[in-house]
Amino acid sequence: MIYLAKYIVVTGGVVSSIGKGITAASIGRILRSYGLDVTAIKIDPYLNWDSGTLNPYQHGEVFVTYDGMETDLDLGHYERFLDVNLSGESNITTGKVYMSVITKERKGSYLGSCVQIIPHITDEIKQMVRKMADKTQADVVLVEVGGTVGDIESQPFLEALRQLRNEEGHDNVMFVHVTYVPHLKAAGEFKTKPTQHSTKELRSTGIIPDMIICRSEEPIDTPLKKKIAHFCDVEPNAVVNAPDASSIYEVPLVLDRENVGKYIINRIKLGIDENSHDLSDWENIVESLKKEEPKVRVGIVGKYVELEDSYMSIRESLKHAAAHVGAKVEIEWISAEDSINTEKLKDLDSLLIPGGFGERGISGKLDAVRYSIENQVPLFGICLGMQCMVIEYARLHGLEEAHSTEFDVDTPYPVIDMMEEQKKIKDMGGTMRLGSYDCKLQKGTLAHTAYQEDMVEERHRHRFELNNEYREELENKGLKISGTSPDDFLVEIIELKDHPWFLGCQFHPEFKSRPNRAHPIFVSFMQATVDHKK
Ligand code: GLN
Repeated sequence: MIYLAKYIVVTGGVVSSIGKGITAASIGRILRSYGLDVTAIKIDPYLNWDSGTLNPYQHGEVFVTYDGMETDLDLGHYERFLDVNLSGESNITTGKVYMSVITKERKGSYLGSCVQIIPHITDEIKQMVRKMADKTQADVVLVEVGGTVGDIESQPFLEALRQLRNEEGHDNVMFVHVTYVPHLKAAGEFKTKPTQHSTKELRSTGIIPDMIICRSEEPIDTPLKKKIAHFCDVEPNAVVNAPDASSIYEVPLVLDRENVGKYIINRIKLGIDENSHDLSDWENIVESLKKEEPKVRVGIVGKYVELEDSYMSIRESLKHAAAHVGAKVEIEWISAEDSINTEKLKDLDSLLIPGGFGERGISGKLDAVRYSIENQVPLFGICLGMQCMVIEYARLHGLEEAHSTEFDVDTPYPVIDMMEEQKKIKDMGGTMRLGSYDCKLQKGTLAHTAYQEDMVEERHRHRFELNNEYREELENKGLKISGTSPDDFLVEIIELKDHPWFLGCQFHPEFKSRPNRAHPIFVSFMQATVDHKK
């Protein structure tokens, strides 16, 4: 059978952080509105095998796929915009490509040949890209190349994708280049030269862009688009403007108004009517996210609060849940670095403690737990957040100096301890308890009421757990265990009896929230936040 998958390659130029991931995800959303199956690949040209060992301050949140891969946060955008579950193979890194080629070389697969970037590395890249198309049988595979055109690191990827267009044919592969058009205040005008230069740089790799998406602060006009079309040698209707939007969820609508879908449908011959799409469900989502009242304020008590991208999925999940309950959420970022002045928490309607690693920020998080218990303020703890809830609860109930052995190996009360199977692991990369596992819910609990289900599946990323030796004692003191692994062995969710809303989960629900399907625990938390404000 001839394979007919269509590929849309998205590159970026001029500067980084212009929202290439959102732009690519928005293209995907538009194509989905034509009834097409769309999947996505993010290429990260760094040498790390995955994102798991990267500092969130540099790369933002680590997004965990259902099959347990620690990936780039752009996969989160793809899952939320396309409403699909991507596998770990959707994140290709230089590390993965080289590891695979070197493993083959050691096995003798290339016996006799000198192993080189071209053809061996580029062949491996093409194989990884095609594998996603084969596996998903998607109509369209979006391939976003991380970094900026001109980076040394991304060259083998661009070369491989150039070859892909040659091999798959012009009708099956197209290139979209996302650039930035700055507005110079002093000159009072937009400048197209950086876009021209970066297009020239892209062309020097042999790639001819079919479409240029110009990001800008303010809308640019038609003569300017014509100028870009002329100098960059693309069709005038393939120069698209995406000015800053008030919400990332508006970008598909912005690109749709610029007829991005229509151009793509015809350019890669998708064989469907260019007008046969319906974005009304997405319009409804955008509308529901615009609600301004009632406003609630949620404090996120974390270690990486200077870079909001570190908690990207949590932030988005809160927005989805707020829209679901008909409220507007404002997030207050509270640094847990030092102990918290609780005066700062007084105006907040609820608190959330996200996941994390390492001792730094722990004392501030424990302060927030105590504040929530003493003042009956809703508190949602995720992963490390849940572990902090257990530690502080134990401390408040006679187990002074209770701790996690992650932070104090000599604690007299190790209420959080490393999971047994983790104790023999030495390597740091990809070795945590990762990905989807079942969680059994107890009837009559906050969790069960929220999910309305007996068994749920959630994504994990941890090495530590509630120590079963303290389980009974903590339960006797009033801690409620509302979710466990199906064999009852691992505590997945804890709650408190005498509290309006106090729930901690060992898993990361934020990875499963979608704008059209807010996560049940986030919805329950947001409702409690609204109720607390009243
Ligand atoms: N550091 C904790 C653990 O490994 C929590 C991890 C997390 O919050 N993702 O269990």
